[in-house]
Amino acid sequence: MPRPIQADVDLAALRHNYLLARRRAARGGTAARAWAVVKANAYGHGLLRAAKALGDVADGFALLDIDEAVRLRQVGIRQPILLLEGFFTAADLAACSEHGLSVVIHCLDQLQMLRQARLPRCPPIHLKLNSGMNRLGLVARQLPAAREHLAALACAGGAGGLTLMTHFAEADADGGEACIRWQLERFARMLDDWPQAAALPVSLANSAAILRYPATARDWVRPGIMLYGGSPFATADAASLGLRPVMTLRSTILALQEIAAGERVGYGGTFVATRPTRVGIVACGYADGYPRHAPGGTPIVVGGQRTQTLGRVSMDMLACDLTDLPAAGVGSPVVLWGEGMPADEVATAAGTISYELFCALARRVPVRSVGEVAQESSRAGRAEGRE
Ligand SMILES: *Cc1c(COP(=O)(O)O)cnc(C)c1O
Repeated sequence: MPRPIQADVDLAALRHNYLLARRRAARGGTAARAWAVVKANAYGHGLLRAAKALGDVADGFALLDIDEAVRLRQVGIRQPILLLEGFFTAADLAACSEHGLSVVIHCLDQLQMLRQARLPRCPPIHLKLNSGMNRLGLVARQLPAAREHLAALACAGGAGGLTLMTHFAEADADGGEACIRWQLERFARMLDDWPQAAALPVSLANSAAILRYPATARDWVRPGIMLYGGSPFATADAASLGLRPVMTLRSTILALQEIAAGERVGYGGTFVATRPTRVGIVACGYADGYPRHAPGGTPIVVGGQRTQTLGRVSMDMLACDLTDLPAAGVGSPVVLWGEGMPADEVATAAGTISYELFCALARRVPVRSVGEVAQESSRAGRAEGRE
């Protein structure tokens, strides 16, 4: 019998959230296409599982690793696949060309490599401009050189070959509007001396921008966290945004302790009972990906009812308060996050964001797909068993 912990990934919910992202983006007025951002193993949900849920509806898939991109091709994904950091070495370029991958180009070195590679077929390019995030992207003074490289790459000039891209730093923040406006102005100003740029497709918006500033949804949007049912905002919960939870981390109560007032629970004895307390021990700890920083008092659902954790999270277990849940006992089902227990709430209690909870799900937790989707391409489905 395996440990009673598992993560359910609801494929129908993932699909619902993707379609919602695209509908929200359409509010901006253009029929934006949406990259399903599946980097980091689809934010911990399983790359091929995400491909199974979205394979017949997504306009494209965006991720970081060439190996992951090739796996998507191998399971029959024919849509565009975008490498969000582009290629790292000249050797990567052959794979990009062979598998028809689109690449972000964020620095002149990449353009140089591309030019030297003399590929028979040039990959479609998302040219990333640094409009103020100061992480990746070309700055204004590098654009003349970039254009010179692009002109030499005759292959990149064709229709659909070149897209302009930038990334917002504060779309998720309250009052982020000023920053968005400033970045958009800067982006436009960078293109002042490049009249042909006005005709190029543009990709700007992540989840937060799609949801709060749909006017920024231009030709392509890039939803990530919202696909997985996480809210990008500290002040708006996922359900109010119309999102459905995708990952539900489940376990059970594996032991019970009845303690008197004054007794403590767990490492460091950080919880001290102020009344006779029924303590449930849950088979889930930080080695499963539950955040150790979640303090006592973090919400948790036992037998369908909310209660809270007690004391410190251990490697393989955590404690919760069953005093007011008399029907709960050994074997009661527990939801750590997901259905009925928003991951964002747990993340907030732990001082982090749902992105981190999802991505940190440990390898030792078995993941199961639930919520079937009607899917024309079954190859992604068959390959899923290998994950
Ligand atoms: C990860 C990523 C996204 C998705 O961001 P979310 O906040 O998860 O929607 C979009 N664009 C780029 C460039 C990214 O790296």
